[in-house]
Amino acid sequence: MTKFKASTRKDLPQIAEKLKLDKEQILDMQAVSAVLPFRVNDYVVENLIDPSDVPDDPIFQLTFPQRGMLEETDYQRMRDLVVRGASETEIKLAADEIRGKLNPHPAGQMELNVPKLDGEVVAGMQHKYQETVLFFPTQGQTCHAYCSYCFRWAQFIGDADLKFASKEAEELARYVRENPQVSSVLITGGDPMVMKTSILRRYIEPLLAEDLPNLHSIRIGTKALAYWPHRFTEGEDADDFMRLIGEVKAAGKHLALMAHSSHSRELEPDIAQLAVKRLLDAGAVIRCQAPLIRKVNDDANVWAQLWRKQVQLGMVPYYMFVERDTGAKAYFEVPLARAYKVFTEAYSQVSGLCRTVRGPSMSASPGKVLMDGITEVGGEKVFALKFLQGRDPSWVNRLFFAEYDPKATWLDGLKPAFGEDHFFFEEPTKKNQPESVRKP
Ligand SMILES: *Cc1c(COP(=O)(O)O)cnc(C)c1O
Ligand code: SF4
Repeated sequence: MTKFKASTRKDLPQIAEKLKLDKEQILDMQAVSAVLPFRVNDYVVENLIDPSDVPDDPIFQLTFPQRGMLEETDYQRMRDLVVRGASETEIKLAADEIRGKLNPHPAGQMELNVPKLDGEVVAGMQHKYQETVLFFPTQGQTCHAYCSYCFRWAQFIGDADLKFASKEAEELARYVRENPQVSSVLITGGDPMVMKTSILRRYIEPLLAEDLPNLHSIRIGTKALAYWPHRFTEGEDADDFMRLIGEVKAAGKHLALMAHSSHSRELEPDIAQLAVKRLLDAGAVIRCQAPLIRKVNDDANVWAQLWRKQVQLGMVPYYMFVERDTGAKAYFEVPLARAYKVFTEAYSQVSGLCRTVRGPSMSASPGKVLMDGITEVGGEKVFALKFLQGRDPSWVNRLFFAEYDPKATWLDGLKPAFGEDHFFFEEPTKKNQPESVRKP
């Protein structure tokens, strides 16, 4: 059996050797990774990254923090410390200071949409859209490797004990029972597939009870097909997961793996394809989604190839996301106008079977908003946008327009088109209301 081993900053010498990094590159990595930690494993380093293409290699960009993610002065400061052999304590102190300036908590997602049981907030759940509850099992709050643009590691916490898992699982099932509008539970993280199947079972089995007829589907968000396909192919634990899928099916529910799938390269190794096959044979559906990230996949041909590969293997393209406001945002962000172009160019070269994908979509505070077109209305160039999901269900599938802005990267940077004062889903601003309704 292949043993999983995570590598972090202290393993840089071995990684440098495998990736054939030169001295400058190693210095770079030492400086940057003191602030922005990385975590990879040998499978990713040896099978997904092409050393001859570092640093431009897309999976290298995906998994290793880069110099451009820090402000130049911060970078120089860290580099100076590394060059003069400063102590780990000194390096950590400087790193903490720089981290304090970054924003690890995007869009207030954790504070909003917290569900309640008996009037008490339930930890580890989020309920924003009527039909779907997000569940963050305490045991699943890490990943087989970290994506360099993801700041979820900021909330990754140490391991809680199993008693906690059972209590969480019981609360989740009770919440679904008491909220009959919920038809789908999405187990997410981190990556829930870092958990042993026996632990995952504690969360899933209570959801299969007969008194939860409202629950139609269970989804598991995971990047393991890309970062550690062995999770699905090797050993008793993998077999047990296949059995668990069978049990979910036998209980009459749909089981979907929501695969974080960024680049077709991830689906090329035989072991990744074997993992897909086993999951499909066991009865799961695999739906694929990923954000559009500069330097990783901001290329129409990469997406077209990715969607084709997914369909070829029996997976279903689902979402292309716009990357939201995380710490190193300037490094990764792709303007909405460009995202639309990449999506459209990719979409137009694939068959209808690939066109189950939707995007580019922003998971913004009012809802999931699709960047649906760039067009002209009455002589004004505008963005056409549409709600795929709304905090208010009556917003779903509603179109709206914003002024064309080639630089805008997110919903909150857009202005309503046609000289309007606010978008329909926002409160009117005071200054533009007529005097009579303006409050003091
Ligand atoms: C995307 C998302 C969901 C699931 O939405 P679907 O359109 O059903 O895939 C649920 N909750 C939140 C907060 C989401 O962002
Ligand atoms: S796999 Fe998902 S949660 Fe984990 S680091 Fe990547 S984006 Fe973040």
